[in-house]
Amino acid sequence: MLQVENLHKAFGELQVLKGVSLTVEKGDVVAILGPSGSGKTTLLRCINFLEKADSGRLVFDGEDFDLGRITRREIARLRKKTAFVFQNYNLFRNKTALQNVTEGLITARKMPKAQAEAIGLQMLEKVGMADRRDYFPHQLSGGQQQRVAIARALATSPEIIYFDEPTSALDPELIGEVLAVMRQLAAEGMTMLVVTHEMSFAREVSSKVIFMEGGHVVEQGPSKEFFASPKEERTRAFLRRIT
Ligand code: ATP
Repeated sequence: MLQVENLHKAFGELQVLKGVSLTVEKGDVVAILGPSGSGKTTLLRCINFLEKADSGRLVFDGEDFDLGRITRREIARLRKKTAFVFQNYNLFRNKTALQNVTEGLITARKMPKAQAEAIGLQMLEKVGMADRRDYFPHQLSGGQQQRVAIARALATSPEIIYFDEPTSALDPELIGEVLAVMRQLAAEGMTMLVVTHEMSFAREVSSKVIFMEGGHVVEQGPSKEFFASPKEERTRAFLRRIT
């Protein structure tokens, strides 16, 4: 479904991604792991065009794009098939939970309000937030806000959802409710690419792990194999440090 080849990205003199390649198949839940500063977030942001890659190739649903030369129109077309969940939720502060979920459907997708609200409610129900539909973000906990953000992502029927450290801004007691929603989506077959520091999620929910260090993919493979018998010494060192 998604293939990235030889992606490079520098910020000024700093080479952050040094030729990253990865493949995501439909239904995969891929955890991107690695030490702080290894380029995980930058990779995700380049794949969804929140940062411009310097070079590389992206194939989505069989369509081929040159990341160094991709046009605005191509980006807009690709974005319709994807959704992004941010570390800090990025909800509109002056809109209710339901309005946050319907906003994109009404403005970007030109959907009639009633239809958008029906979908919005359905998605809020899915993440256990229907009873808080009229609450504003400041009236919700971080975990609840992140669940609204996930409902917003789901509302656009994306083929893949990108998550950038979705639980790292949360107090420990709120992490579980967000992971539970992600676990449920995984069980339903949603394709997800998740930058995370949550080893329990990577171990128990993800089907595949991509381990990055220093702007390179050091190792990638099925989660079970990755944790049971990591092939690279650098992976073993990382796993020793965090477990
Ligand atoms: P963490 O796990 O701590 O979030 P990460 O693996 O996601 O780290 P990135 O956030 O992708 O790493 O950052 C990789 C490197 O790129 C870091 O050295 C960071 O300082 C640098 N970097 C990221 N964004 C920018 C930017 N907009 N301008 C300059 N440097 C940046």
